[in-house]
Amino acid sequence: MANDRSLTHRPRRLRQDRIRGLVSETSLEPSDLIAPIFVDATTDERVSIESMPGHERVPVADAVDRVEEVLETGVEAVMLFGIPTSKDPDGTRAWADDGVVQEATRQITAETDAYVLTDVCLCEYTDHGHCGPLEEALRGSNARAQEHDHDHDHDHDHGPTLTVDNDATLEALEKIAVSHAEAGADMIAPSGMMDGMVGAIRGALDREGFEHVPIMSYAAKYESAFYGPFRDAADGAPSFGNRRHYQMDPANAREAIREVELDVEQGADVLMVKPALPYLDIVSSLRREFDHPIAAYNVSGEYAMLHAASEKGWLDLEAVAHESLLSIKRAGADLILTYFAEEIARSY
Ligand SMILES: [Zn+2]
Repeated sequence: MANDRSLTHRPRRLRQDRIRGLVSETSLEPSDLIAPIFVDATTDERVSIESMPGHERVPVADAVDRVEEVLETGVEAVMLFGIPTSKDPDGTRAWADDGVVQEATRQITAETDAYVLTDVCLCEYTDHGHCGPLEEALRGSNARAQEHDHDHDHDHDHGPTLTVDNDATLEALEKIAVSHAEAGADMIAPSGMMDGMVGAIRGALDREGFEHVPIMSYAAKYESAFYGPFRDAADGAPSFGNRRHYQMDPANAREAIREVELDVEQGADVLMVKPALPYLDIVSSLRREFDHPIAAYNVSGEYAMLHAASEKGWLDLEAVAHESLLSIKRAGADLILTYFAEEIARSY
């Protein structure tokens, strides 16, 4: 009797066991993944990061070993973040020749085959935790967005307020990028969302003979609450205010296209969206609008929430991690920065 039905279209035909692989539209490979690494110049021992199970800050002397652990899983690229020996208002340790990322990069590139990307920003190096040196902006007298000295929106009575000085920050970013390239970085990844940062860095790299070093811009980086655990990891929480006057408003999608167009005009080679899962619509629209490789940063909060749920026995960690990363690729990302990189690669 069932044969009386004339169902011409039966998608289930292609979901049978031996055909699924042939018709699958998206694949996830270890070579798509970049593992973030935290190198800490203030410690002689590895320090585990409580809110990011399985991750540690490692001393400079352990950076090569840490990268070798990553390479053994099949992941070929790492992104370095540094915790410096000291911080100051201008973040001067960020471009020191003997700085934490510079030292680690020299050792890793000399002793391993890893592809080394370096994060270029000031927030881990400034004593106030913002992504550049501060300037005073009198309320109402400056068209630039202002940063006030508390988290509450309702109490605005203080006179002078502080904001990151965009153009002074560009000069610092140029010095940082060149110092990383001199140390051997394979790709430079500016994350501070300063206007003009990609053009400034491209110009500086070219002037110093690093025309071959590509730039992966954190092109559409949102002011997100999903960064919480990272701030434990990198010790980079702002000591006052927040970063919403330079990072993007989570409400905005069209603005992401404008932001990214500017980075493309300035010579960005790879375009990143951060965070990933709450912004898959942005990944998807950048994929349609641009021909550049698109990267997505599966951030610390996305990692921590799956770990927390699996610790409670509510989710199967490996399955949800794999599904999350697959969804990021399906949305259009070519490469993914993720704290799951090693776990996922090991399962291949
Ligand atoms: Zn920053």
